[in-house]
Amino acid sequence: MPDAVDLIRAKRDGRELADADISWLIEAYTAGEVAEEQMSALLMAIYFRGLGAAELRSLTAAMISSGDRLDLSAVPAPTVDKHSTGGVGDKVSLILAPLVASCGAAVPQLSGRGLGHTGGTLDKLESIPGWRAQLTAAELIEVLTATGCVICAAGPGLAPADRRLYALRDVTGTVESIPLIASSIMSKKIAEGTSALVLDVKVGSGAFMPDAVAARQLAEAMVTLGAEHGVRTAALLTAMDIPLGRAVGNAVEVTEAVATLRGDGPADLVEVTLALATEMLKLAGVDADPAAALADGRAMASYRAMIIAQGGDPDAPLPVAAHTELFSAPESGWLRALDARAVGVAAWRLGAGRARKEDPVSAGAGIICLAKPGDRVQRGQPLLELRADDPARFPRAREALSGAIEIGLQPPQPGPAILARVGA
Ligand code: URA
Repeated sequence: MPDAVDLIRAKRDGRELADADISWLIEAYTAGEVAEEQMSALLMAIYFRGLGAAELRSLTAAMISSGDRLDLSAVPAPTVDKHSTGGVGDKVSLILAPLVASCGAAVPQLSGRGLGHTGGTLDKLESIPGWRAQLTAAELIEVLTATGCVICAAGPGLAPADRRLYALRDVTGTVESIPLIASSIMSKKIAEGTSALVLDVKVGSGAFMPDAVAARQLAEAMVTLGAEHGVRTAALLTAMDIPLGRAVGNAVEVTEAVATLRGDGPADLVEVTLALATEMLKLAGVDADPAAALADGRAMASYRAMIIAQGGDPDAPLPVAAHTELFSAPESGWLRALDARAVGVAAWRLGAGRARKEDPVSAGAGIICLAKPGDRVQRGQPLLELRADDPARFPRAREALSGAIEIGLQPPQPGPAILARVGA
């Protein structure tokens, strides 16, 4: 039988771990037979030494085998999902899942909650009165079959090794590792049972991967893992230097997503959503025009059906924060930058995000970007509207925003929203 200390030494010294060693390790760790401190040391060794392609394949396979794999074979349409590596104002899933469903594919979207400065899809949808994130596997398939899409929490049986490893990485400074991120994301997505997958790998200050070279490596690693496990996978690298759209928070993002489904969405959000929808439909083998489905109300009809099927009332008023403050332009000129990470941290401090997994979030808290880079602004003009239930939260949010804004004499050069595509 392998020994955890031997495996730690091997990885520490840059040697390759065998498939049998990796599957033993993940099984023994999940069973509580490998100590947390041993796994911590191994994660740090992986952080510094990386993993070869075969090791990454073995690790991902072992993480999938640590739990159940959903069987979606009863769903009568081709299944395709999207996963985003996380951004600020990223409410794309709320629009994309019903949009792609309205075009004829089935979207089983098992999502997470926000941690840190990036928001979580479930937290956003939970601001809709009555909406339920926790579904049984049978309910998930029922909603998916009836409405073509479902967005819900991953059950505890799905890649449980990742749940424990992710919590350990969070407290050992080992989150930012390409093989660890790739195996974490792909083990959950492959276990979910989707036939095809589009990855939205965010690049920029508001993303896990600030630089495009690392983001591309992550995308390539995930696309390869998908193909190795029989999931048709492609990735788009998309810009995350400024918040996507204008709303950052929970209820405020639902409001913006619904406006987009009504045909009244901000241009950057619409562009990213349609690009991802096009990729998803291509991988699912569905010939349809997502722009038409967004424009003619079909996507909105699918959204409403999905919300109702999960107990929500799509017509109910959403929670509104009790207090607002404005953040104004310190000078006149062109707004050149609005740092996504700073806005994400500020929204988090206003109560939209959580510091620990078990913390509640405020449904109404967040930020509305009243101006975006490329706008001409006057000194004293409100740029951001900050919303919080507790006014004591404003000063720390403002602190996060110091340095977030750049105003200059020249307009900024607008960069593309879609930076690259990775995949067959
Ligand atoms: N999201 C995940 O699910 N895992 C990671 O490691 C990073 C982002």
